[in-house]
Amino acid sequence: MGIPTISDHALLLLSGGHDSIALAAWLRPAACLTIDYGQRPVEGEMRSAQAVAQALDLAWHSFRVDLTPVGSGLLHDGTALNPDTGHSVEGAPSPEWWPYRNQLLVSLAAAWALGRGFDEILVGSVGPDGVRHKDGTAAFYTKLDEVVAYQEGGLRVVAPAIEMSTVELIEASGVGDNILGFAHSCHVGAYPCGTCPGCRKHDDVIARTGRFK
Ligand SMILES: [Zn+2]
Repeated sequence: MGIPTISDHALLLLSGGHDSIALAAWLRPAACLTIDYGQRPVEGEMRSAQAVAQALDLAWHSFRVDLTPVGSGLLHDGTALNPDTGHSVEGAPSPEWWPYRNQLLVSLAAAWALGRGFDEILVGSVGPDGVRHKDGTAAFYTKLDEVVAYQEGGLRVVAPAIEMSTVELIEASGVGDNILGFAHSCHVGAYPCGTCPGCRKHDDVIARTGRFK
């Protein structure tokens, strides 16, 4: 596929994982934003995102909003939430599921972007995310774009890689090992735990791309 077209005034939500790093390198948004919302791996995500933005010579911003009162799953305290019966691992969409997380983060990014000259929020979700939770699906982002664009400011929400896998995105982006090597994927801490779904996906992606040999 060709390079997705983005606005000249796009703001990328940069979590410091493989997907958003590859998007940053590939599309070179006007700026990147990392939100400290009280997630357990925040120290690692901030370290990665800042290093990536600096290496790519992209503007980087961050701010803190405490979302822990509505947290759940591995990113929060390790519990998992069953949307029907309450806190229980059984029936949670995925161990890392945090209710409405992507909706909350995109809304926060859009609210921050409004009045700062940005007109588009880019998110790094890829196709397989939608299997793990509904707020990673193409349909979700179509709806979210519609509801954000409907409101004052008319910002757009775009997930340029939503039809791709992480490996496809990395390969299409041409991102270098020196940039990709900053990635932080662990859901539970500042350094890789090696066993959470984020760490397992990280290792699987590296193996599939044949990088860092
Ligand atoms: Zn981990």
